[in-house]
Amino acid sequence: MAQNIPELYGSLVFNDKIMRSKLPKDMYKALRKTIENGTHLELDVANSVAVAMKEWAIENGATHYTHWFQPMTNFTAEKHDSFISPTGDGQIIMDFSGKELVKGEPDASSFPSGGLRATFEARGYTAWDPTSPAFIKDRTLYIPTAFCSYSGEALDKKTPLLRSMDTLNKQAVRILHILGNKEVRHVSTTVGPEQEYFLVDRDLYKKRKDLIFCGRTLIGAPAPKGQEMEDHYFGTLKPRVAAYMHDLDEELWKLGIPAKTKHNEVAPAQHELAPVFDTTNVAVDHNQLTMEIMKKVAAKHNMVCLLHEKPFEGINGSGKHNNWSMCTNTGVNLLDPGKTPAENTQFLVFLVAVIKAVDDYADLLRISVADAGNDHRLGANEAPPAIVSIFLGDELTEVLKAIENDQYFSSHDAVQMDIGAKVLPHFLKDNTDRNRTSPFAFTGNKFEFRMLGSSASVANPNIILNTAVAEALRQFSDQLENVPEENMEAAVHKLLKETIIAHKRIIFNGNGYTDEWVKEAEKRGLYNLVSTPDALPYYISEKNEKLLTEHKIFTKAELYSRYEVKLENYVKTLHIEACTMAEIIQKELLPSVTAYMEQIAQTASLKKSVVPDISVSSEAGLLKKLTSLEDAMTADLETLKTDTAKAEGCEDLLEKAKLYQKEVLADMEKLRKSADAAELLIPESILPYPTYGALLFSV
Ligand code: ADP
Ligand code: MG
Repeated sequence: MAQNIPELYGSLVFNDKIMRSKLPKDMYKALRKTIENGTHLELDVANSVAVAMKEWAIENGATHYTHWFQPMTNFTAEKHDSFISPTGDGQIIMDFSGKELVKGEPDASSFPSGGLRATFEARGYTAWDPTSPAFIKDRTLYIPTAFCSYSGEALDKKTPLLRSMDTLNKQAVRILHILGNKEVRHVSTTVGPEQEYFLVDRDLYKKRKDLIFCGRTLIGAPAPKGQEMEDHYFGTLKPRVAAYMHDLDEELWKLGIPAKTKHNEVAPAQHELAPVFDTTNVAVDHNQLTMEIMKKVAAKHNMVCLLHEKPFEGINGSGKHNNWSMCTNTGVNLLDPGKTPAENTQFLVFLVAVIKAVDDYADLLRISVADAGNDHRLGANEAPPAIVSIFLGDELTEVLKAIENDQYFSSHDAVQMDIGAKVLPHFLKDNTDRNRTSPFAFTGNKFEFRMLGSSASVANPNIILNTAVAEALRQFSDQLENVPEENMEAAVHKLLKETIIAHKRIIFNGNGYTDEWVKEAEKRGLYNLVSTPDALPYYISEKNEKLLTEHKIFTKAELYSRYEVKLENYVKTLHIEACTMAEIIQKELLPSVTAYMEQIAQTASLKKSVVPDISVSSEAGLLKKLTSLEDAMTADLETLKTDTAKAEGCEDLLEKAKLYQKEVLADMEKLRKSADAAELLIPESILPYPTYGALLFSV
């Protein structure tokens, strides 16, 4: 049945059109002012919005409302209240007040707080974010909110994200005014996250404890076919996948999520979805919803959507590309090179600010994407390495070189430009080849940060990116602020030149997957923070604490709490993985090895009983192989258990994480080797779990 997509789109969103039609004119204007300028919202306006929201929600079948928030996990949280309000005569009315819209008080005690709050201080607050639209899901009105503790510390990802957008706005507007662009009143950051995922059959999934508990396979021999034929990327969609994607698009569209591009990815059973970009906080909310809806729609199709960064060994894992730019309220993309020299100056200042930001805070950017899952992906010859660097492409690199050396820049169409103090170069939108290996690539009119893992919230990397760029712009403004107008061009040129010289080490246009790059990066003094426990201590370094506290993204206490939450999360993830692996080996794989050996032994003795001098050398050979694998697994399993217990016993959180990373993870890898070797010998009828072949080629 043909659907009217424009009508369907946003039908479950309390969007501008609904607001305008439902709110009294003055109330609508006041709300728009709050949304656009972040001004305080008066209670009478809140009351009016609450009534309109409730009416609209009820018309659309809602019975409940919830403040929807993003605690320091990768998930969202919600607590539903119905609209009913007893009138005292056994009847009810459907009620919702401005106070209930603006503020909620969920119990905060069972969310990660990183020691910010003792559990007896249970009270937490949620506060409405009017810049991200409310929506209806499962007959409930969802109100996007920020989440903080009783004493006002942020316990979520939205609060620091909004703070980072504020500081970037402030510093971007400031430099634009200094550069003479006085009309701009507001700069927001924009994000378009491309989301990768795997689809597997639900019945097979249910037989894999590792997928159920850890989201990734902990054992599993490679299937005879992997991704080597390069036949999946952009390949024809199988009917079941196509049906899933179709349903998914419609569910997302209803929620006003502009799902745009979908295709098969490199690995078998791997796919991607990309929306049209949006303001950062809306894009973050939408990405959280997208991940949730992906799983829900998969269930309807008897499939499971895997969002783990590395569900399968030996084939690509899943990431998330964070396309990022800055946009003025006058509609100008600040990372668009533009057509005139004036636009170019502005562009170059912002470009160079991003380069400086990424170089100065490469460690923080690395940390913003660090977790146990992503450790398996970064640097694994399929994703960018753990070293942060920037790809600019040939043309822009030439432009910067020209500025650095006070030379002429000749663009591709051979227009010669004096790029001395007077005129900055005019060049075309960069259209050089793509570089897939770069963690941070300029792609024409935006940057694409490619280190993000597929399951994580995109809030963290954007908090860091916004703040680091805000700091670079702040320093630029400080330097240019008191320069008289007639000297401005020369001063800007000098600033660009100095910044390029100081930060060009972060620019790398070559192949980021090679060992030479690792050596070269070390020579350049770039960070190579390979694992999460390697990276996390830098979170709370003096330099980074200064950045994050000065821009009021985190208080010191908030920052330390995040550091702890990340470490705790790492440790818990590895603990669950170690326990799951031990259980599968002990209770599933070893018994199946024994069962198979029994069959073989029986076969051998049966053979002998019928034909006494018959050869049983194949049975004997198989028995020997299985026995040696059984012995190896038994021994390695004990080591895993001992090392897990040792790590668990460690009091210091960082040391504990390191023990997990160095010892437990290594034990798991070793154990996996014999497990996978055994799997290859055991018939599928005895194997307790479906193989890679079944999982990856079942849909
Ligand atoms: P690819 O990287 O695969 O070539 P596209 O060029 O289509 O993909 O863009 C990828 C993502 O970048 C999309 O989600 C798109 O909306 C987003 N994007 C485009 N322009 C911007 C921008 N100015 N700011 C943020 N994201 C953007
Ligand atoms: Mg991309």
